[in-house]
Amino acid sequence: MTIDSLQYNGICRCGKEHRMETEFAMIESGCLKNLSGYLSKYGIQGYTVAVYDENTYAATADRHPSVDLDIILDPTDLHANEHGVSLLMEKLPSCAEVLIAIGSGTIHDITRYCAYIKKAEFVSCPTAASVDGFCSSVAAMTWNGCKKTLTAVAPKIVIADTDVFMNAPIRLTRSGFGDMIGKYIALTDWKIANILTNEFYCDRIAQITFEATQSVLESVDGIIEGKPQAYERLMYGLLLSGLAMQMIGNSRPASGAEHHISHLIEMAPVGLDISSNALHGEKVGVGTLLAIEEYKRLATASKISFLDYTEFNRQTIVNVFGETMTEEILKENEHDAAISVTSSALRAHWNELCEEIEKLPEIEFLRNVYLKFGVKSQLSDIGLDDVISTKLLDYSPMVRNRLTLMRLRGAIKIGEHN
Ligand SMILES: [Zn+2]
Ligand SMILES: [Zn+2]
Repeated sequence: MTIDSLQYNGICRCGKEHRMETEFAMIESGCLKNLSGYLSKYGIQGYTVAVYDENTYAATADRHPSVDLDIILDPTDLHANEHGVSLLMEKLPSCAEVLIAIGSGTIHDITRYCAYIKKAEFVSCPTAASVDGFCSSVAAMTWNGCKKTLTAVAPKIVIADTDVFMNAPIRLTRSGFGDMIGKYIALTDWKIANILTNEFYCDRIAQITFEATQSVLESVDGIIEGKPQAYERLMYGLLLSGLAMQMIGNSRPASGAEHHISHLIEMAPVGLDISSNALHGEKVGVGTLLAIEEYKRLATASKISFLDYTEFNRQTIVNVFGETMTEEILKENEHDAAISVTSSALRAHWNELCEEIEKLPEIEFLRNVYLKFGVKSQLSDIGLDDVISTKLLDYSPMVRNRLTLMRLRGAIKIGEHN
């Protein structure tokens, strides 16, 4: 399978001109063996460094591309944070012009951020279908303990070798499935924001992301049976989701309330006393089920009433995030994305919002797919107590200033007359 930017670039029916920085993505068995051919075809030249971790170096042992320098990082305690970045920066020669990430999420985030600092060309070779971030132009980092999205560079090309990523540990593939299933909520939140505040929305990009998500859901049996085409559809969905972000210019099509739940868990704020070693997509997968359950609960309530949206209370933020993180959280929410949402707007559009929520897969159906595929589905599966769920729903919107239905929860009251 291939994705060519020429298919998508240009004026769209939404009125915007979409542009992908990534020119080309190849998903095929054996394509890593021809990496140098793709580099020259797309005019990528200069002193080239391939960045691996020890695991991905071993997983690609029969097909290491010939480059000027291989850097192999120790995966123990390697994270996308300031330490990971300085580790790679120390090893990079000043003459490096092309950085190739050969690995999964962490290697990509570290390498793409270093490529940005060094103004080098960036090439992505995912070794697992584990996250949607390969095509991202930003790096998802934990910087001084806080989740940050830092400006970085998008890959010019992506070369995803099926022989490699389908043999990655199954836990990584399951995690990629979780990240992809999160698009259901992300797309719903995007549409809801468009309905309520007229936020920019592109139905074409929403549609292609939705179709890719559906195709991943339908590929689960094939993945369980070890069919390369099913794995390729998962990788295709993950890459496409990243490219959708490039075309919109932010993560709106790929990240909503489910990702905010995952981010909150990753931040492990002092007031929640939680910690989880789960992978990004595992947390997103669990967050997706929590969000779908809550959205469906709201949409199917027989009696409902609405309040004007009000901003988060400072004292609550201090209680949850502690003094050290409070300033960051307040800054993030400075121009509150939901501030214009009134009770009358919610009342006027509620049926439309419910129609969007109805399009979400049924919770029991999804739970069964998770179960069949061995995907983590409950908070207890990711090392958290089930009683924390209400707090996650309450506080997760604080980590990103983005309009989601979850952010409006306090303004939607069940069991009261309108
Ligand atoms: Zn568009
Ligand atoms: Zn994600």
